[in-house]
Amino acid sequence: MRQEIGETGGGLRRGGSLVAKDARHVLHPWADLSALGGQGSLMVCEAQGVEVMDSAGRKYLDAIGGMWCVTVGYGRPELIDAMQAQARRMPYFTPFADVANEPAAELAALLAELSPGDLNRVHFTTCGSTAVESAVRIAHLYFASRGRPAKRHVLSRVNAYHGSTYLAASLSGKEADRTRFHYETEWVHHLENPGFDPDDAPLSASERLGQLIDGMEAAIADIGPENIACFIAEPVLASGGVLIPPPGYHQATRELCRRHDILYISDEVVTGFGRVGHFFASEAKFGIVPDMVVTAKGLTSGYQPLGAVLISDHIAGTLTESADPAKPVFSNGFTYSGHPVACATAIANIDVMQREDICGHVRDVGPYFVERLRELRNSPLVSAVRGDHLMACVECQVPGETGPTARNQALAGRVDAYCEKAGLLVRPFENLCIMSPPLVITKDEIDRIVAIMTESLARAEHDLR
Ligand code: PLP
Repeated sequence: MRQEIGETGGGLRRGGSLVAKDARHVLHPWADLSALGGQGSLMVCEAQGVEVMDSAGRKYLDAIGGMWCVTVGYGRPELIDAMQAQARRMPYFTPFADVANEPAAELAALLAELSPGDLNRVHFTTCGSTAVESAVRIAHLYFASRGRPAKRHVLSRVNAYHGSTYLAASLSGKEADRTRFHYETEWVHHLENPGFDPDDAPLSASERLGQLIDGMEAAIADIGPENIACFIAEPVLASGGVLIPPPGYHQATRELCRRHDILYISDEVVTGFGRVGHFFASEAKFGIVPDMVVTAKGLTSGYQPLGAVLISDHIAGTLTESADPAKPVFSNGFTYSGHPVACATAIANIDVMQREDICGHVRDVGPYFVERLRELRNSPLVSAVRGDHLMACVECQVPGETGPTARNQALAGRVDAYCEKAGLLVRPFENLCIMSPPLVITKDEIDRIVAIMTESLARAEHDLR
């Protein structure tokens, strides 16, 4: 939810017929229903490099990366040319059953090379939510194929975000998103939020790890391992507030899953494709090989909608060897699964990432980004700064008032509005300003982000007096 700055006025929402049409007819994801059709939206029209421009011609440094997804920056001719060429050659044909397309086949082979361990089988979807949904259905099918259909419960975590289809929304654990929609609760369980902030922890890292693993073991014992199909986890919880588990957490949870025959699904929709310095964080950064990895967003740098589930040979082998002889069909998939234009874009994106060593660049500028943002803790309005390479958040609070209270949320909204007015887009969530800039961001541009944040915090502090 965006906030206007009052008399000084952001002046960002212009009249104009398209803004009016949007206000009258579009129901935006995560729209504020109490204000539907009221205040006009920020109409973003053009984009280049790390900047976007609105309909009034104002430019903004995009510290959101579109929505955690624009990784190689806007206006990349390599991606645009690939999209155009594929659209001309063959824009679409069914991906169902025994029909293939060239870009999807090539992209699947590339993903198998980049992915951890033996995750060599790719099921394409249309976005992150449909990939999450498909991964859980595959876990169910896997156990049903092994004659264990009771294994269908799913473990997720508080503060996780996994998408907004019915099951993905049910797996998500952000309290603020739990509204009057209906959620699956019978077989979806949420473990404790695993975030650990060494600056602000009453427990040591190893004590916290012990607590989290004990909690997970207790939940498994309570539900019964014979009833649990899978555990789904973002390596670093992204939109739930950039929550970083204590060292050893990923390996310990992986081990628990292995011991109890529970499939481990790593949701790398945000952490994949370079955001924390690797194509996939699970193995390269956290030392685990999951049973399945879910990816989307950075897969195409956000230029085209596409998601994928990367599946281990072991699971794929079980599905084929133990298929129901009466109905051997894998009845999951979408009209636009492995869309040729989206897959061609992803191939061009991977090519750019490899040629320009984007992951290496992130490993270089990422620590600088987090360190510079941590300077913002000098402001009395900042209670915490958390980050891992190019995903970070700044937690705002009115001095003396902790947590996402109404006043703290309003404060973060105010900081966000001042940033917007000064030409910087950050993403407000509760009392957080979340940032995930394009991965091609430079140290100078990082300095610009920090300067605008510093100034915006100072203005918000002045307003409080
Ligand atoms: N998983 C994670 C970790 C995400 O952050 C998101 C979206 O933000 C999703 C899944 C859902 O992806 P999509 O919005 O493409 O459906």
